[in-house]
Amino acid sequence: MLCMHDIHKSFGDLEVLRGIDLEVRRGEVLAIIGPSGSGKSTLLRCINKLETIDSGRIEIKGETLAETDDSGKAVYVEAKKGRRLLSSMGMVFQQFNLFPHMTVLGNLLEAPMMVKGLRREEIEPYARELLQKVGLSDRADYYPSQLSGGQQQRVAIARALCMKPDIMLFDEPTSALDPELTGEVLRTMRELAAEHMTMVVVTHEMGFAREAASHVLFMADGSIVEQGRPAALFGHPQEERTRSFLQNML
Ligand code: ATP
Ligand code: MG
Repeated sequence: MLCMHDIHKSFGDLEVLRGIDLEVRRGEVLAIIGPSGSGKSTLLRCINKLETIDSGRIEIKGETLAETDDSGKAVYVEAKKGRRLLSSMGMVFQQFNLFPHMTVLGNLLEAPMMVKGLRREEIEPYARELLQKVGLSDRADYYPSQLSGGQQQRVAIARALCMKPDIMLFDEPTSALDPELTGEVLRTMRELAAEHMTMVVVTHEMGFAREAASHVLFMADGSIVEQGRPAALFGHPQEERTRSFLQNML
């Protein structure tokens, strides 16, 4: 579903991604963990071109989004194909990023209507179904400012799902929430995982990574230090760097 090979990315002199390889198959959940500044968000943002890569190859659903040409620089596919591939991904951010001047339902309808050109009646039933799924069917007419953080984040998840993505990307979706609100968001994410949504999740929630992820990838300083099944990575970390990181997280 998603394949990245030898991804390099620098900001000026700072090399933030130093040759990252990863693969996520359909229905798998990849959890990315690692210390602050290790490049987790940058890697996630490279998947859906919020950041462009310097070199390497990105394949989405078996099709190339970007690959290195003879000069060693990454070249992206032409705009129309690129948009089609990128539209198969939904993203949820740490800071919910809802449209503040729109109702909850309006937030869900905006992209399907404006980007996909669907008529309201074509998408509203599905939007309401999604609100029910995330437990917010009674909040359709509220504005984001009238919701708790956990509710806002569940709206953000429903909004991303409303575009019917094949892959969902999450960047620390619970770190801006009070501890008592993280549970409801993680529950929604666990349900998605159980329904075999393909997901890439940057997270500090080790419990979620351990229980919901198919694979865990530990990054430090722009490189993958260790990756594997959660039971192996959490139970028997091979690298000292992984061990000390996990110890500090507990
Ligand atoms: P955190 O856990 O704190 O979110 P992270 O692993 O997500 O960290 P990134 O946000 O990917 O880390 O940042 C990796 C490095 O790249 C950091 O040193 C950061 O300062 C730098 N960086 C990120 N975005 C930019 C940018 N747009 N311009 C310049 N430097 C950047
Ligand atoms: Mg980050």
